[in-house]
Parts: sequence; structure tokens; C-alpha cells
Amino acid sequence: MSTADTDTMYQEIILDHYRYPHHKGLRDPYDVEVHHTNPTCGDEVTLRVQVLAGLVKDVSYDGQGCSISQASTSVMTDLLIGKPLAQALSTHEAFLALMQSRGTLEPDENVLEDGIAFAGVSKYPARVKCALLGWMAWKDATAQAVAQTKEAS
Ligand code: ZN
Repeated sequence: MSTADTDTMYQEIILDHYRYPHHKGLRDPYDVEVHHTNPTCGDEVTLRVQVLAGLVKDVSYDGQGCSISQASTSVMTDLLIGKPLAQALSTHEAFLALMQSRGTLEPDENVLEDGIAFAGVSKYPARVKCALLGWMAWKDATAQAVAQTKEAS
């Protein structure tokens, strides 16, 4: 495929997740809720996590903002829900590395699935914060959830 075709395909994936977000809506039960914002663009996300026996039991969210921020959160829930925590964290690392690559990394579709659509976004530092909003919220909430579990045991 030419670069132009790939860009169009990526844009379609992003718009599709924006129009029809996956796993959207705040759900119970959950361990931790966080609220993250990206003031430079006006994006917001409220995100809940439930971590149970080393599994990402659920990630639910509500938010508003640009298509990149909302689509990226939707893609993330597809990738992380139901996964062992260690695998979810390494997927998080892979997405972070892609977003910090300034367009130089070839994304691995086996790891990132629809997340590869954000490869082009990494060329635009202002948009990288949009794409990472939900992912940073998940990392924050998950770290708090894991800390709670440790305190309780
Ligand atoms: Zn944004």
C-alpha cells in the first residue's frame, strides 16, 4: 500500500472508534476511578479500572474531546480488558514507544491491533498527548489499584 492509502485507512480506523466507541460508559464494580485532562486540546476522560487476581478485569470510561483522544481510549479497552496485568502493561509500553517515536517506529499489529492507526499521530507532538490521554489514565488508575491490593493483603 502507498503511504497515502495507509494514512486513509488509519484515519478510518480512528473515526470508526470515535463514532462507535467500544466499552464506553462507566461501570461497576471498580477499584479506582481517575480523571485526566489534556488542557491544550480540551480532552477529558474519567476512567475506572478493576484489577482482580492479576487480570485486567474491566476498564470503563467516559470522556469528551477530539477524535484522537476518544478513539485511542476505545482502542485501548479492546487491547487491555481481560488480559493478564503483565501483558497489559507491556502493550501499554509498546503503545507509548510508538507514540514517542515521531513516526520512526513500524507498529506491530499483533501487539497493537487497531492501535497501529495512531502511528501517524506520533509525528505531531501536539496530538501525541491526545492519543496518550486514556492510556496515561489507565496506568495511573492501575498503579493505584495495585497499591491498594498490596495494602489490603
Ligand atoms: Zn485532543
